[in-house]
Amino acid sequence: MQGHDYLNRDIETASPKKIQKLQEVELARQLDYLFSRSLFYQDKFCAAGLRRKDCRKLRDLDRFPFTTKEELRESQASHPPLGRHIAVDWHKVIRVHSSTGTTGKPSFVGITRRDARMWTRLTARSFYTQGCRKTDVVVHAAGLTLFVAGLTSKDAIESIGAVFVPLGTGASEKALSVIPSLGANAMHCTPSYASYFADFVRRAGMEPRTLGLKKLFCGAEPGAGIPAVRAKLQEDFGARVTEGLGNADMAPIIFSECPEQAGMHFNGPDFVLVEIIDPDIEESLPIETGVTGELVYTSLQRECVPLLRFRTRDRVEVLGTSCACGRTGFRLRCIGRTDDMLLVLGVNVFPSAVRDVVSGFYPQTTGEIQILLEKPGPRVEPSLRVVAECANPPSSELKDEIERRVRAVLTVAASVELVAAGTLPRYEMKGQLVKHLYQSKA
Ligand SMILES: [Zn+2]
Repeated sequence: MQGHDYLNRDIETASPKKIQKLQEVELARQLDYLFSRSLFYQDKFCAAGLRRKDCRKLRDLDRFPFTTKEELRESQASHPPLGRHIAVDWHKVIRVHSSTGTTGKPSFVGITRRDARMWTRLTARSFYTQGCRKTDVVVHAAGLTLFVAGLTSKDAIESIGAVFVPLGTGASEKALSVIPSLGANAMHCTPSYASYFADFVRRAGMEPRTLGLKKLFCGAEPGAGIPAVRAKLQEDFGARVTEGLGNADMAPIIFSECPEQAGMHFNGPDFVLVEIIDPDIEESLPIETGVTGELVYTSLQRECVPLLRFRTRDRVEVLGTSCACGRTGFRLRCIGRTDDMLLVLGVNVFPSAVRDVVSGFYPQTTGEIQILLEKPGPRVEPSLRVVAECANPPSSELKDEIERRVRAVLTVAASVELVAAGTLPRYEMKGQLVKHLYQSKA
């Protein structure tokens, strides 16, 4: 049966106890390494009065300080090119990627040969979890250049034995000929691109489902896990949609969904130690069904830029700790990013959550929305202005119904403006759910 099949059975189906033992060994090694090789962490630990012997067990980790993206940016600005957190000699670096990020200027991420092997193994495991097999022909319709999940996806998909087709971005015209010519049955892209491409195919006078794509591997932004967005993409392409989640500073894909489509499994306990914290009180939470918080990563086995308790600013919800596929890695969904979060009368609202609610009205709505901000966030004065596309001529009943549902689900007042399908912009990379009506300083 599909899904009951693993790339690394030992790790993917290991008991929590076995994982804990493994992580304890790897964490000890990584800490030895940080204390001896990382000037950045030597300073940080010294400032916090911490010695190596202060962390003997996994649970001792919470005595150690977090690492933030701002610290990494400062480290890189003061010690270019890779920052004071580089823990190897420059000649051991074999590749440099960059994280684009939603805020601030791009920062670089280096990897050694060993790091590259580790990234490939973890990423391959993630694609395999999503159902990628050696008989597949996978069109990579996402970034290939500096993007961490570009070349790593190539290495990972090739290592499974599948065919990797490096299409890249902005190549929809080429995709129309390449997909049928090569008999491609899978595509790796952002959910925004999948939805853009479906419209593109229709404009070219074809139905997306006639292309023969049976698997869509989505990632780089939340969306593919939203039930209505997923339903539409699956219907458009006649394909199964699964998603993955990673982090440019840690590893390209760390979580990925199996064909059960019940949230993304944690795939890499041998390479990454995951914590979920309450971002307000900055304390680690138990990883149990229903828990929500911010993902925090500690690298294991990392050579070039090992990070300890790195705050991702990704907000997630744990959906479960077991699965019909037999994998023991817990499952989660990404709620949104702290950087995108809005605050309406003290209530946190993620733009992706607004889209989630509006998408629930599909097929009456197309699922495309835009939030209009008159002033820089995160504080927004009510009502939250939301533009939503609807399939039929706009009706005041639908507008009222959406406003009521937003209030019920997100506990904020929204004022919804309905527009015709196809009015809002479509994006070939990551989608933009917020439109700034004010003059931006950037
Ligand atoms: Zn599963």
